[in-house]
Amino acid sequence: MFDALAEKIQSAIGKIAKKGRIDEETLNKGLREIKLALLEADVNYKVVSDFIKDIKEKALGAKVTKGVTAVQQLVKIVHDELVKTLGEKAEPLNLKSKPSVILLIGLQGSGKTTTSAKLAKLLKKQGKKVLLTSVDIYRPAAMLQLKKLGEQISVPVFLEENEKDAAKIAEDALKKAKKEGYDVLIVDTAGRLHIDEEMLKEAKEIKERIHPDEVLFVSDAMTGQEAVNIAKAFDENVGMTGIVLTKLDSDARGGVALSVKGVTGKPIKFAGVGEKIDDFEPFYPDRVASRILG
Ligand code: GDP
Repeated sequence: MFDALAEKIQSAIGKIAKKGRIDEETLNKGLREIKLALLEADVNYKVVSDFIKDIKEKALGAKVTKGVTAVQQLVKIVHDELVKTLGEKAEPLNLKSKPSVILLIGLQGSGKTTTSAKLAKLLKKQGKKVLLTSVDIYRPAAMLQLKKLGEQISVPVFLEENEKDAAKIAEDALKKAKKEGYDVLIVDTAGRLHIDEEMLKEAKEIKERIHPDEVLFVSDAMTGQEAVNIAKAFDENVGMTGIVLTKLDSDARGGVALSVKGVTGKPIKFAGVGEKIDDFEPFYPDRVASRILG
């Protein structure tokens, strides 16, 4: 992931470095290359424009620091701008209630069910007692998938296969979690292949009935530019506290990672980096920035 982008940004900076000193013309040329690299990586246009504008202002306005070359200074400016675009710092889960509730929303196929299990395993490892539930009343296969994953990681899965009210299943799961002293309840919801009013309405109703501590929007990194529109639709209609970016391992470009925080203002909290349960990690903006800059 980010390989092509990293290569191009590093090459642009390398060319600037060759010049020795950074005048406005050299900077403009370099920034044009960085801009193209970001657009090719499918980063949202507005995010790219702000990114380039900020770097230019900072680079031209920068006072020369003693012992640091102009290029080193530029690399630092680009690094800081990448970190800012990716979300500044890692944002941990904000789990206050007992039990805490995490609601996962997103399109079908984005990786919600897999992420539910990944998150359950991570929290279990931290010593928390976790309960999983699926409220996908449309696809029995989705409930079965979660049940299997639950068995794999030894986390119980609450299901009401015959209930036709998704919010009611979520409420019943919460009742069980309260009664049985669970620390965390993770609720996997139904998605559709495209943005759909009914799906958003249902997710909102579930949210209103169980008051989750976290509403995590699961975003498939492979969806490119469209991911931003999908994220916006979910944020405006349901509301979210954070984002889980899945399939980062399969996306060579990384555009969604760089766009989604800027467009929604919501932090990327976790990254899915493979199909296996352990292929999951907290999202560290500074590590990603360092990776892009080599
Ligand atoms: P849901 O419909 O949103 O619940 O999506 P699923 O959890 O069923 O995931 C859809 C597909 O994406 C499955 O084949 C998963 O194995 C795969 N998947 C989920 N997360 C990741 C990830 O981080 N990396 C990769 N490579 N595949 C993933």
